[in-house]
Amino acid sequence: MSVNATQLIHSIPVDELTGAISVPIYQTSTYVQESPGVNKGYDYARTGNPTRATLEAIIAKLEQGSTGIAFGSGLAAIDAVLKLLKSGDEIVAVDDIYGGAFRLFTHVYEKFGISVKYVDTTNTNNVFEAVSEKTKLIWIETPTNPTLKVSDIEAIAKIAKANSCLLCVDNTFASPALQQPLTLGADIVVHSATKYLGGHSDLIAGLVVTKEKEIGEKIKFIQNASGAILAPFDSWLVIRGIETLGLRIQQHCRNAQAVAEFLETHPAVENVYYPGLKTHINHDIAKKQSKGFGGIVSFTLKNDTAAAATAVVTNTQYFKLAESLGGVKSLLCHPAQMTHKSIPAEKRKAAGVADSLIRLSVGLEEVQDLIIDLENAFSKAALVKEEFSNAIV
Ligand SMILES: *Cc1c(COP(=O)(O)O)cnc(C)c1O
Repeated sequence: MSVNATQLIHSIPVDELTGAISVPIYQTSTYVQESPGVNKGYDYARTGNPTRATLEAIIAKLEQGSTGIAFGSGLAAIDAVLKLLKSGDEIVAVDDIYGGAFRLFTHVYEKFGISVKYVDTTNTNNVFEAVSEKTKLIWIETPTNPTLKVSDIEAIAKIAKANSCLLCVDNTFASPALQQPLTLGADIVVHSATKYLGGHSDLIAGLVVTKEKEIGEKIKFIQNASGAILAPFDSWLVIRGIETLGLRIQQHCRNAQAVAEFLETHPAVENVYYPGLKTHINHDIAKKQSKGFGGIVSFTLKNDTAAAATAVVTNTQYFKLAESLGGVKSLLCHPAQMTHKSIPAEKRKAAGVADSLIRLSVGLEEVQDLIIDLENAFSKAALVKEEFSNAIV
């Protein structure tokens, strides 16, 4: 299930006080009280802010959850979910996990006695086998970053339920315009709203949505206790991004599909990873649980070296070399040297992040321009790297 453009646009309320069609930005740190403890629902802006509260209500609605909670970054959102756990608890997580989440789980939370088992969650049986009585949280991203693996949310939710642990889905790549994990049985959804929800590469933000109010209250408590809140202006930017999410996602999907199909036919390319391709190993499950396949496409080169990948990513005109994704402008990156650098080389390769893997965030430009841009980059790369030219037979 997913939300459509009408639901997205009208999830944003008109201001009751003034009729303003754009959500007001309450740039304040505190609220004047009539007498001690008597206020209009707000006392201090870390605890609550009307602009942030509006965003939190919007995302809860869009993900069909009970509670939305907004944070200063995607990782702060993820961090808040992990704070539900205690020493001795265990997480079963997708092996092809976002690099920053891996760093947080392994290098911060293991220190506090929380252990993590990384498994290939595209095979539901691996999850079933990894879960023990210590497991309190199953963590998946689907599609994953950067190899676009897709896991069966509904099947994994059943395993979580049977073992009394929570299933959290990082829904950053799909967004509620393509996929609503809570409707498939997940307990928690997290977003890096920095990506598609914001949509314009102009802010860092994170969101959590919970199905149950009780878990939502716990995360709200953590939000206030730890303090990693989203600022009012940035809350407003996310809301503005959500207004056009329907239209943007549609075009991201169309452009990405065309780029993926082009890459499949190019002689320099070895593998293309895009769930919308019939050749993608998880195409069927992607089709079952999502309305579309998103804007991210990854591929490897026949010449599987970091040098060849570098030659390609430094020779595009429209695809800008940058971390992040989900904005109107196309981006590309080389995960082994950029986003996934913090994952040890062996783990990285085992999860399918080859040395030459390039990730594209296909933006909203004319798709023909993007295809020509890649075509030109392959040609230029062949000129600068002799061994690379051998790959283009
Ligand atoms: C970017 C990203 C994050 C982290 O979000 P920030 O806003 O950068 O902190 C988490 N998960 C996924 C899938 C991401 O792409």
